[in-house]
Amino acid sequence: MLKCYGYAAYNSLTPLRSHHFKRRSPGPRDVLIEINYCGVCHSDIHQARNEWNGTKYPIVPGHEIVGRAVLVGNEVDRFKAGDLVGVGCMVDSCGICPECQDHQEQFCGDTVFTYNSLDKHSGKMTYGGYSNQIVVDQRFVLRLSDKLEPAAVAPLLCAGITTYSPLRHWKVGPDHKVGIVGLGGLGHMAVKFARAFGAEVVLFTTSADKIDDAKRLGANQAVLSTSPEQMQQHEQSLDFILNTVAAPHDLDRYLTLLKRDGTLCLVGVPSTPHPTPSIDHLIFRRRNLAGSLIGGIKETQEMLDFCAEHNIVSDIELIPMTAINTAYERMLKGDVKYRFVIDMASLPKQ
Ligand code: NAP
Ligand code: ZN
Repeated sequence: MLKCYGYAAYNSLTPLRSHHFKRRSPGPRDVLIEINYCGVCHSDIHQARNEWNGTKYPIVPGHEIVGRAVLVGNEVDRFKAGDLVGVGCMVDSCGICPECQDHQEQFCGDTVFTYNSLDKHSGKMTYGGYSNQIVVDQRFVLRLSDKLEPAAVAPLLCAGITTYSPLRHWKVGPDHKVGIVGLGGLGHMAVKFARAFGAEVVLFTTSADKIDDAKRLGANQAVLSTSPEQMQQHEQSLDFILNTVAAPHDLDRYLTLLKRDGTLCLVGVPSTPHPTPSIDHLIFRRRNLAGSLIGGIKETQEMLDFCAEHNIVSDIELIPMTAINTAYERMLKGDVKYRFVIDMASLPKQ
């Protein structure tokens, strides 16, 4: 076993703190990665605090990982020591089911997530990127371009693919008027992608102080969603809405903004359900209510290559590991522009 160290939550209530733990030793198909940066996703908070139930403690969160391959197994043919690499939300899947065959490993019944999942090799839990090293099967390791700032690339591994994938799936492009709800980690990447795909982008936020920023990030318009007048201006005008909000709220207010046949796609995963949407708003204009989960590995690589080509990264605030608990509190208040990324050089060894 490989001795590692990082930060863990020991229960749902107390702050994360220093933690020593073991990972499986690298096997023939594994890449051993020295972690340089790890983004802080709202899913880390949900899981550290057991808001989705099923958290096994201690939990080491983190699934927006950027680092260097330091050692590769003798059957690894896609990476070599020294490569700049990334790891997202998944580290394994069955590889043979129809979903895996179709490059949709996130929907495999046997997906192994980067943390709080059972490692098929060791039978122990997986531990995430708030740590010094990680061991990952080469099929789940992503190739990163040296052209982009690596710390700002880290959030692409979850916030990036989670927004890129639905925008691609629903074929968002130049003829579309697209709404993005919530300007946090996912939301700000969604604005950048929707704009890069040529759509007209309207950002919906509950935070008045994000209106100007939304336009800087690429939104054509920014709407204060608490204002009924501002909301009404967009009634029945949007083709597609991507909703990234991490808390339960009234979905009808967004369904009514869709045109006939429009789609409201949910990616936020609140700990308690949204109020049930009205059937009327769905049937009278044949609107669709949908959801999306991260994206497959092939599409994640496509997204990373697209970002390198179009110079797209996340807007980040780099923090030391010791600031993680303050970062969580700030995220809960919507006070992050727009993703915290942990500098692993700051990780205390003790
Ligand atoms: P985040 O950075 O905290 O952003 C969430 C945004 O939602 C906030 O910045 C805020 O934007 C808006 N919001 C409005 N009311 C809120 C409230 N009462 N509480 C919290 N946020 C509120 O979170 P994130 O990392 O982007 O993640 C967003 C959600 O997506 C989380 O539930 C996360 O677990 C989920 N997620 C899902 C997937 C997937 O595959 N489906 C992948 C990753 C994450 P404004 O200030 O602009 O209103
Ligand atoms: Zn995430």
